[in-house]
Amino acid sequence: MNKLVLASGNAGKLREFAQLLAPLDFEVLPQSAFSVPEAEEPHPTFVENALAKARHAARLTGLPALADDSGLVVPALDGAPGVHSARYAGEPKSDLRNNEKILAALAHSADRRAHYVAVLVLLRSAEDPQPLIAHGEWWGEIALQARGEGGFGYDPIFLVPDLGKTAAELSAEEKNRRSHRGQALRQLVEQLQYGA
Ligand code: IMP
Repeated sequence: MNKLVLASGNAGKLREFAQLLAPLDFEVLPQSAFSVPEAEEPHPTFVENALAKARHAARLTGLPALADDSGLVVPALDGAPGVHSARYAGEPKSDLRNNEKILAALAHSADRRAHYVAVLVLLRSAEDPQPLIAHGEWWGEIALQARGEGGFGYDPIFLVPDLGKTAAELSAEEKNRRSHRGQALRQLVEQLQYGA
């Protein structure tokens, strides 16, 4: 099997990526297995941050590396929280305070549209001039109040309009079918299979 290092310490992501890439003969290993510290994410775009994380992991391990970067984009807030999604309400990072900040910011807004973005980058080596890049978007609305126990992050306030449920009220399978990360992953798998 081809080894691939995942530039993330998130156990849930490792499980998802490992499952989807195993049939393609990839063994996905966490960067912690190689004592790779978390990379900086200083860039203003998701794709630049994902690329920086993948390059950092590829450089320190000598293996092909996969990284993702994701976040929530709210047009009425000029695209915020965007690449700052994890720490929108400051340090220490808190999903609860992030959600409260979005609800307060949109209290008087008629436009409650929002979308999640996920970008995946796969580098065959640190110097790979042609990374594989996959992109997923999931559109919804910001709910009037938080609801649901599943998922993480902004899921309790991310309303899926055709279901009338928040992302935190979906099963993991249903979320994967629709989500930005699920879409990006399937797109990456297609690129790996068909060289698209
Ligand atoms: P990262 O890509 O793991 O750095 O995630 C960035 C941040 O975006 C997370 O900490 C969450 O706040 C938010 N985010 C990304 N994907 C999701 C999701 O599927 N549900 C809820 N929040 C998400």
